[in-house]
Amino acid sequence: MDDFNPATTQKIASIPRSGKSEVEAAVKAAELAFPAWAVETVENRAAWLNKIADALESRSEEIAALESMDTGKPITLARNVDAARSVANFRFFAEQVVKMQDKKFPMDDAENNVIQKPVGIAGLITPWNLPLYLLSWKIAPALAMGNTVVAKPSELTPLTADLLAKVLVEVGLPAGVVNIVHGLGSEVGQAIVEHPEIKLISFTGGTATGKLVAATAAPMFKKLSLELGGKNASIVFADADMQNTVAGVARSAFLNQGQVCLCGSRILVERKIHDEFVQMLCEHVGEMVIGDPSNEETQLGSLISQEHRQKVESYIALAEQEGGVLIHGGERPELEGELAAGAYLQPTIVTGLDSESRCSTEEIFGPVVVVHPFDSEEEAVVMANATEYGLAGSVWSSDIAKAGRVAEAIDSGMVWINCWLHRDLRVPFGGTKNSGVGREGGEWSLAFFSEAQNICIKR
Ligand code: NAP
Repeated sequence: MDDFNPATTQKIASIPRSGKSEVEAAVKAAELAFPAWAVETVENRAAWLNKIADALESRSEEIAALESMDTGKPITLARNVDAARSVANFRFFAEQVVKMQDKKFPMDDAENNVIQKPVGIAGLITPWNLPLYLLSWKIAPALAMGNTVVAKPSELTPLTADLLAKVLVEVGLPAGVVNIVHGLGSEVGQAIVEHPEIKLISFTGGTATGKLVAATAAPMFKKLSLELGGKNASIVFADADMQNTVAGVARSAFLNQGQVCLCGSRILVERKIHDEFVQMLCEHVGEMVIGDPSNEETQLGSLISQEHRQKVESYIALAEQEGGVLIHGGERPELEGELAAGAYLQPTIVTGLDSESRCSTEEIFGPVVVVHPFDSEEEAVVMANATEYGLAGSVWSSDIAKAGRVAEAIDSGMVWINCWLHRDLRVPFGGTKNSGVGREGGEWSLAFFSEAQNICIKR
């Protein structure tokens, strides 16, 4: 299959369209590698993860360049977020796994020892928005806990998964411990989820695909983690520090062209500052540099594909039909040369919509945000919770007690106060409602990628 640079639509690679038989071969390899990997000491597995981190770190610039070319994201983002986090994920889980201790529960006449055993072969499926970042977020804890892996990256962004495979060979990781199978979701992804020997599925992607994955995996009682879509609210109170909040809310709305599951795509603003805030937001967004992803100054690159841009544009058209007012953006920017063919879209801000309209409640996953005024704390919470998603959110206020109350009332897995995407890898990550099932991150990942066994010894 052809792989394209979405910023220019030029073909950059060919990848195999694998199918069931390649998944079968990957499972066989993972099965053969499992017994030896599962009994490696925790210290040895951690040493392998650190070796992988070192090798990736020495190729950080290459990772950033490949990721930027494959996704259309700005090179600075690919360097500071994608490349840096991919290395950090391996280091972090190396450190976590050696700190992990078996739990003991003494009774008057007996001792309970809880040990964490590997599950077996882990099936890992990842999307295109943060390719190596999300793949490494799953591979590292899976390996740390003694599992072997069959992984499928998005076919739209295969380059850094391919680089990782080469790095794993270079560092000498035993053959079969990690197997990466390129191809379509409906073929390779489906074959991984269906395979009876794959005992655990960690899936990150859209909610509709997550439903399919869950329906296939559930009758086999596989361990399942689903990290799905979001329609996160950024709630701005009148007592917030305006400069800081405008910058933070804009970053949350448009980072990676709005293609991050955690993006704050609904901005709820206390009515008394609504107009002033919206004006400041438009000015801030108007200064963002959109263009060539390889340029160090670029803040907004291209969307992932022409098809995805069409989907996002269909929501802009819908917003107008639903009575919304486009107060910023809404068009394709005019770019020169080979960039003219890229999947660019201006950052777009819509006001005047009903908070229950489709544009205000469905995930658009692009550079389009809706802004709604609210009058009270209670109303802000009702509006924030009025979607089928429950992934994340942010609250902006100088009254930390009020912000804390609102954060707790939001039905989502994560809420930031006066910041956004400020990540500590030890904390739980995941969503409620249609944003998914389960939590990953820190000890939650280590628990998910293992089976707890209690051994009770009677004295
Ligand atoms: P997607 O279409 O659901 O694809 C995700 C992955 O699943 C891809 O590798 C895809 O392969 C594969 N796939 C497709 N059909 C499958 C099937 N029947 N069985 C198994 N795997 C299948 O999502 P996307 O468009 O790549 O990513 C965007 C979505 O991911 C958004 O909804 C976003 O919110 C969500 N996301 C969530 C998180 C989170 O942590 N909660 C993080 C990032 C992104 P193909 O690429 O070949 O179709």
